Amino acid sequence: MVNRKQGVPDLPENAAERLDIIKTRIERARRRFGAPPEQVELIAVSKTFSADEIRPFLIAGQRLFGENRVQEVKAKWPELRALYDGIELHLIGPLQTNKAREAVETFDVIQTVDRDKLAGVLRTEFDRAGKSLPVYVQVNIGLELQKAGIPPAETVAFVERCRAVHGLDVVGLMCIPPDGLPPGGFFAQLATLGRAAGVANLSMGMSGDFETAIAMGATHVRVGSALFGHRPKAPAADMTP
Ligand SMILES: *Cc1c(COP(=O)(O)O)cnc(C)c1O
Repeated sequence: MVNRKQGVPDLPENAAERLDIIKTRIERARRRFGAPPEQVELIAVSKTFSADEIRPFLIAGQRLFGENRVQEVKAKWPELRALYDGIELHLIGPLQTNKAREAVETFDVIQTVDRDKLAGVLRTEFDRAGKSLPVYVQVNIGLELQKAGIPPAETVAFVERCRAVHGLDVVGLMCIPPDGLPPGGFFAQLATLGRAAGVANLSMGMSGDFETAIAMGATHVRVGSALFGHRPKAPAADMTP
């Protein structure tokens, strides 16, 4: 039985099996569409799930995770990082400038850069911390009022400013298409913007639509509920700060 909206089947008990099913679907989609990318990375979205619920996925070999709240990550990931090497945490939720310092300390990749003020504050915090994290620019691909992200028409110029003015290492674009509309056209548009902006990565596709995203060139898919099960109550991940 599959919940169509979220693409959550009755999940096997075991984290290794769940990972295996999703990775098989990713690989099948990648081959079926025969286009680039050569590889699609699975970002396991573990927001709202506890360290105990995440640990089986680490044991099964997963290392790439997505989270959307700085405070939540500070509470649950230090113990996991102490136990497992090679963990890579991506921030996939909106970032307020007053949390930028903590985000730079806590995450490995920031996927939600969407305005000059934030880009400038991140530059300052990278310099202060003596490091520079790879970032993605988030695009408000459906031009939705309630969603974060730079408008599509401003994306290429914004990526250029992030690089030239703010000195950021922009490695990709990220988007969340509107609910209730076929996502394929939005993913294709992000791919076009990615080529125009000269970025290598496209972070797009969630539990319900990651195969469509791969068909359109996703290099990173962000899968939560199809791995971890339904979230108790969905946090407002899409809301502008
Ligand atoms: C929660 C979330 C996901 C995962 O969504 P699922 O439908 O559970 O796979 C992906 N991307 C972002 C930005 C999210 O906030």
